[in-house]
Amino acid sequence: MPDRDVDLAICGAGPIGAAFALFLRERGVEADRIALIDARTAEAAAADHRMIAISHGSATLLARLGAWRPGIEPRATAIDAIHVSHRGRFGRTVIDRQDYGVPALGHVIRHGDLTQALAAALARRGVEVLRPLRIAGIDVAGDNLRVTMTSTDGGTRSLVARHAVHAEGGLFDLQQRRAIHRDYEQSAVTAFVTLRDRPADALAATAFERFTDDGPIALLPAAETDARGATRDGYSLVWCGKPDDAAARVALGDEAFLVALHAAFGDRLGPFATVGARRAYPLGLNAVDTPARLRSQTAAEFAIGNAAQTLHPVAGQGLNLGLRDAHDLAALVAQALRDPASDAGALVKRHAAARRIDRAATVNLTDAMPRLFASAFEPLVFGRGLTLALLDVVPPLRGLFARQMMNGRR
Ligand SMILES: Cc1cc2nc3c(=O)[nH]c(=O)nc-3n(C[C@H](O)[C@H](O)[C@H](O)COP(=O)(O)OP(=O)(O)OC[C@H]3O[C@@H](n4cnc5c(N)ncnc54)[C@H](O)[C@@H]3O)c2cc1C
Repeated sequence: MPDRDVDLAICGAGPIGAAFALFLRERGVEADRIALIDARTAEAAAADHRMIAISHGSATLLARLGAWRPGIEPRATAIDAIHVSHRGRFGRTVIDRQDYGVPALGHVIRHGDLTQALAAALARRGVEVLRPLRIAGIDVAGDNLRVTMTSTDGGTRSLVARHAVHAEGGLFDLQQRRAIHRDYEQSAVTAFVTLRDRPADALAATAFERFTDDGPIALLPAAETDARGATRDGYSLVWCGKPDDAAARVALGDEAFLVALHAAFGDRLGPFATVGARRAYPLGLNAVDTPARLRSQTAAEFAIGNAAQTLHPVAGQGLNLGLRDAHDLAALVAQALRDPASDAGALVKRHAAARRIDRAATVNLTDAMPRLFASAFEPLVFGRGLTLALLDVVPPLRGLFARQMMNGRR
């Protein structure tokens, strides 16, 4: 009789927890050794309308897991090029997929569609999601950990696992403060917008990252399907600015909002025609300094995805970094489970070491970009124009930046 119910308890079946379970299955961990637990119902998870850009590297990882089947699931809009500029200042650069020999630099998908594609892949690999159950506590129980969960009717359940993996994700303003913390005192207004006129073909699959003196504006090519199943092309907007301005933008009437967006973004795409539901997200960096800790001689806790680091969405890197967390941790855990002599202390050290460089590079880049581009300090203003100009004229430098965005630093 084993002294525990499962080897791994995964707390959260969002994109990163689900991908982690699939990476474990890929590495030969049996489905009945994994408990994947989520507080939301499958319907609530599928209804998450947040649009996210994922890189080519992430699509490749998801394809390996059976959760990225082009033309089948999830519904995705390709990004062929990214145009980076600063409104009213010199310097701009274009990153084009053709320069890197990839079918797309990335794709824009709905969070809920991705979760559904991952849920289907989990079902095919025999992994059941225990839901809706909220993790209430994790305590040491002999050589293992006892995970306590509450159900929606207030009932309590528990299971015993060797290790626990935190993948509860979440949003900056709702998370507990962590060791690496910065409140950018900015909020992002998100919405789906359409253009009055179709963009020229050359621009149709281009994403725009436009820095303005008030904060960055990202427009990512995207498609929206309405309740009757009709699809229309447009852009997923992430408009960052001061929290009061963001709140005011959410409250504006549609027409006034579209005029304000046109004025802030400029005329590159012409006037906007429609805007869907708007929501403001407070922005900050909130990261643990090390994503693994020993709970006893034999049992450990790990953090992946937004449970390990919540980033500024300026370069759309949160999900990509989280997938790489999940990939690397699964490889180490599967190896440790196969080796009866392996000890939890070594596993903790190996995971922290494996994730150190990629996490630090992505955290530092996404932390520096909004601060550099928000500064009115004239030498910095000049410096960022120069950076964009340099990226434009020095292909190897642009390549370094593009590869970091697509694959992270390994
Ligand atoms: C406005 C905005 C735009 C973004 N744009 C991008 C982008 O373009 N590209 C990109 O890569 N990233 C982007 N991100 C970040 C991206 O959404 C996150 O990095 C990603 O969702 C993290 O996935 P996750 O699985 O770690 O967490 P989540 O997606 O938050 O999922 C966590 C899961 O855990 C469950 N859970 C929570 N607490 C508990 C509990 N106590 N017990 C059980 N279950 C629990 C939740 O129900 C949920 O299903 C953006 C974020 C925001 C806010």
